[in-house]
Amino acid sequence: MAGRVDGKVALVTGGASGIGRGCAERLAQDGAKVVVTDIQDHLGEEVVRGIGGEAAYLRHDVTDEDAWGRVIGEVKARFGRLDILVNNAGIGLGCPVTEMTLADWKRQIAVNLDGVFLGVKHALPLMRAGGGGSIVNISSVAGLNGAPNLAGYCATKGGVRLFTKAVALECAALKDGVRVNSVHPGVIETPIWTTVMGGTPGANEPPDLDAMTSMFVPLGVKGFPKDIAEGVLWLASDESRYVTGTELVIDGGLTAR
Ligand code: NAD
Repeated sequence: MAGRVDGKVALVTGGASGIGRGCAERLAQDGAKVVVTDIQDHLGEEVVRGIGGEAAYLRHDVTDEDAWGRVIGEVKARFGRLDILVNNAGIGLGCPVTEMTLADWKRQIAVNLDGVFLGVKHALPLMRAGGGGSIVNISSVAGLNGAPNLAGYCATKGGVRLFTKAVALECAALKDGVRVNSVHPGVIETPIWTTVMGGTPGANEPPDLDAMTSMFVPLGVKGFPKDIAEGVLWLASDESRYVTGTELVIDGGLTAR
């Protein structure tokens, strides 16, 4: 049976863990040749071994513009094209705004927002050369609503949301065949939760996601990376050919209230 992204070449940043890993595996399952990048080499190589086939792992800090040039160059050399970019790498630093250091503020902006900008900037020429593609930027429900102790994180994710819409319109105006959308996960079980709440005074332990979601999420349960990967696969595939500049919320109803 034909896969939904058969023969397409995909790049997934932060693909060694959590949602990125889920997306890389799901895209590969449906026929994509996947390049996983991350700064956790051991885990990234493990993901690629698990996928098998033509998947590749590259070490890549998304905040480093030179590294983006090398990664895109490597994708072009190995596969000759790029059809799908999932800008997923991200960090979450929970902290009251009065206690957040400027260094942490800048670090979070660098990974979550600069990283997405650099990905779009460096991937677009190769995508355009191949006649188009799909860029999926992972934002968050924190890019739609505010949350206490997450002001810095919300600022980055809100930025990703509107950056996505602006680039989508820029690509549409050029008729370059590139669609650009954002995905907004709710509470998904991944290692990021060790820092999202771990940095909050009085909450040095990661939160109990089951207790939290049963209280606040209308569907009453937490999500898993595969729940996000299904949405990313759809946006990456030609099934969503008429979809650009939109935001796909996958949150168990969290932001529906
Ligand atoms: P995760 O910690 O499991 O994965 C994040 C990955 O990004 C890690 O593998 C990490 O090594 C990588 N990374 C961090 N800094 C990097 C850098 N400078 N360069 C390259 N890679 C880097 O967390 P996750 O939950 O899977 O997060 C993935 C994305 O989903 C993030 O953008 C996050 O903000 C977003 N998100 C997660 C949730 C959730 O509940 N888990 C909710 C909303 C949004």
